[in-house]
Amino acid sequence: MSDQNPVFIPGPTNIPDRLRMAMSMQTKDHRAPDFVETFAPVLEDTKRVFGTAEGEIILFPGSGTGGWEAAITNTLSPGDAVLIARYGMFSHKWIDMCERHGLDVRVVECPWGEGAPAERFGEILADDTAGEIKAVLVTHNETATGVMSDISLVRKAMDGANHDALLLVDCVSSLACVPFEMDAWGVDIAVSGSQKGFMLQTGMAILGVSQKALNTMEGAKLPRTYFDFRDMRKAYVGGGYPYTPPVQLIQGLRTSLDMLFEEGLGAVYDRHVRLAEGVRRAASAWGLSLCAARPELYSQTVSAIYVPSGFDSNALTEHAYRAYGVSFGVGLGEMNGKAFRIGHLGMLTDVMVLSGLATIEMAMADLGYPIELGSGVAAAQEHYRASRANALRSA
Ligand code: PLP
Repeated sequence: MSDQNPVFIPGPTNIPDRLRMAMSMQTKDHRAPDFVETFAPVLEDTKRVFGTAEGEIILFPGSGTGGWEAAITNTLSPGDAVLIARYGMFSHKWIDMCERHGLDVRVVECPWGEGAPAERFGEILADDTAGEIKAVLVTHNETATGVMSDISLVRKAMDGANHDALLLVDCVSSLACVPFEMDAWGVDIAVSGSQKGFMLQTGMAILGVSQKALNTMEGAKLPRTYFDFRDMRKAYVGGGYPYTPPVQLIQGLRTSLDMLFEEGLGAVYDRHVRLAEGVRRAASAWGLSLCAARPELYSQTVSAIYVPSGFDSNALTEHAYRAYGVSFGVGLGEMNGKAFRIGHLGMLTDVMVLSGLATIEMAMADLGYPIELGSGVAAAQEHYRASRANALRSA
């Protein structure tokens, strides 16, 4: 029965029944006219979620990591300098990918729990009078630490330095959960995946690509075949695909977009803020601190919570799974053993989050944590009740 429980990992997220059914379909010929009829509006509607009217959407079979690779290989050449900060496991992995592709990776080291250092980026870009830096890479939501960076500040710093590097953003664990404004923030490539805010199975990298990035594409010399934007765009003109597309996932994305629009993107974003705040209040009631250094860095999709010293967060997540059949995120990288993560993104309601908080409380109590059973749940309940009362008042 434990497979009936929701997961509280920060992706892949819970798949609503409606999406499971949408993806559970018989094979469709991707060269048949009705695939074209499905596919083109999916691309168009996905733009709304990225906040772009000017950019294009490109979908690859793959996952977020494939999206990173597509972003760099379609815009950069071997030896090009890129600017990126390391403040968690995912920014670290993107750095590693850039290094393995032979880029000149200029890394700003930040403590984990901090976000993208916009001011420092601005200084470095201002000093780069020769224009060596071709791209600035930013992880919008660092899933390892529960830190969300302000992309508009990075854009401001780039503009302030009068630098024309591309801005490549990883929004894998933020898109379709919080507002994303690709055009307004001047993002050149935004990389996401199917299995987080879109609530689908893993299997698709979903990218928003600006006209500036497309103009850079022809000159980019990094090798690419499977992830080549040019092949993809050529095929899209006829409404098709350069190889076999994941038709079930594309059908799922159609229904995912319908669900997001039916709830209303604003309501989806508000729900994520409300759920996240309940989790933060629970952590505070337990006397535990977040990895995110300051409130303005708090992620609305995942909270990384330090366990008290002397406790092992891996033992906690393992116990929660074995005893109660509920998954929470483990601490990644330098936070392994020191923190656990609660994913609060995708298809979740207040009630579901309360069940997760109750579960982790039981697991903590079982392991002798100095917390009062029910304290975190009560703090979250108060917040959810108050939010509901406010919503009713303003309706
Ligand atoms: N970037 C971020 C912020 C992530 O959270 C993840 C995965 O969790 C990735 C990139 C990698 O994506 P994927 O696992 O879909 O390849």
